[in-house]
Amino acid sequence: MLVLKFGGTSVGSPERMKALVPLIHDAQPKIVVLSAMSGTTNALVEIGKALYARDNDLARTLIDALEAKYKQVVKDLFATSVFGTKGNELIAEHFNYLRSFTIDMFTSNEEKAVLAQGELLSTALVQFYLEESGIRSALLPALNFMRIDENEEPDLNYIETHLKAELEKHQGVPLFITQGYICRNSFGEIDNLKRGGSDYTATLIGAALRSAEVQIWTDIDGMHNNDPRIVNKTFPISELSFDEAAELAYFGAKILHPTCVLPAQKRNVPVRLLNTMQPEAKGTVIGMPASGDRITAVAAKDGITAIKIRSARMLLAYGFLRSVFEVFERYRTPIDMITTSEVAVSLTIDNPAHLNEIIEELKDFGQVEVDREQTIVCIVGTFGKDKQGYASRVFDSLKNIPIRMISYGGSENNISILIDGSLKKDALQALNSGLFNL
Ligand code: ASP
Ligand code: MG
Repeated sequence: MLVLKFGGTSVGSPERMKALVPLIHDAQPKIVVLSAMSGTTNALVEIGKALYARDNDLARTLIDALEAKYKQVVKDLFATSVFGTKGNELIAEHFNYLRSFTIDMFTSNEEKAVLAQGELLSTALVQFYLEESGIRSALLPALNFMRIDENEEPDLNYIETHLKAELEKHQGVPLFITQGYICRNSFGEIDNLKRGGSDYTATLIGAALRSAEVQIWTDIDGMHNNDPRIVNKTFPISELSFDEAAELAYFGAKILHPTCVLPAQKRNVPVRLLNTMQPEAKGTVIGMPASGDRITAVAAKDGITAIKIRSARMLLAYGFLRSVFEVFERYRTPIDMITTSEVAVSLTIDNPAHLNEIIEELKDFGQVEVDREQTIVCIVGTFGKDKQGYASRVFDSLKNIPIRMISYGGSENNISILIDGSLKKDALQALNSGLFNL
């Protein structure tokens, strides 16, 4: 069973929905994971905010506007009045449900239910369209099998058992449509896998079924060796190992959900990134073991805050770093890069929501210095520890760029460098010519 995921733009209009058919309808059995139509989840977020603020008039206006958009979709999507009616009934059901919150109670639980409507709508519409076109298919309700545990981590065993049970209900059906992003939590309530989570749904399904391949279809021709929006001359990478992809996913979150590679890696299911606009192009395959050592790609992440703690107490002490890390843990703030000297430690965070509280607590340990608007530039590849020359190639390329932090050897797949955000473009361009001769 192949698993194919299409994002919001791929189902963003009736034309795009129709254009999916040749990509998903052939002899090979498939599960197709869909996002909400582009713009819908954002609109639902706004509706949720209005409801939360008890601004029910605004909520009603937003709900009406979104409903009007869907009525037009139904009009353009279906050719027959039978399916036109089915489509309108479907829409009425979901939008009346949304409207019910303008009267009833609204809490963060209901907000999750609101956010789930986008995927429920897009999948039902596409499945109706397949039925109308005479293509045998079934809708798999993700809320019956997709589940996260008390730590908000996907429960792969649960997903496997319940997904297989759902599939058994439809013996012989070659094509399934299901919702990305949405799931239930450990209380059985409607929840989600966070924004962009449809990729994660796809790799979880692929892992649960030990699928031959998971395909993530987007509008980009795979993962590039460098950021094509900033650097001129980049090329799509044809193969990436799981380890390289895991390092890149944090940076390339725009193209792939950051943790979605993990379930595929766990069960060794390759993930292929493909382009709906160029279906015949090979795209990028994630999951091929690296053949020898190499530099694969360069990526960057902006908006990084660097924090330096300088303390005489650190010298020859044990337990110092633990106390520092505990501060970040208390504020649930992940640390990305770390470098240490004998008397100081520098680390970076990308979520400054609790920065002020964190700094106040760190002052108990020593002098604290903060640099904002930094950028992590990350060089990903496979650099065995017995291999020489990679560091010198990287630093030679960056010889004109002031460097704030360096992290090498954390894994065999990453060299990370922290620079001032204003130098990002220069750094990426310099690495492009220095490492890839472009
Ligand atoms: N519809 C959700 C979002 O916009 C999930 C996804 O598209 O992957 O974040
Ligand atoms: Mg996406």
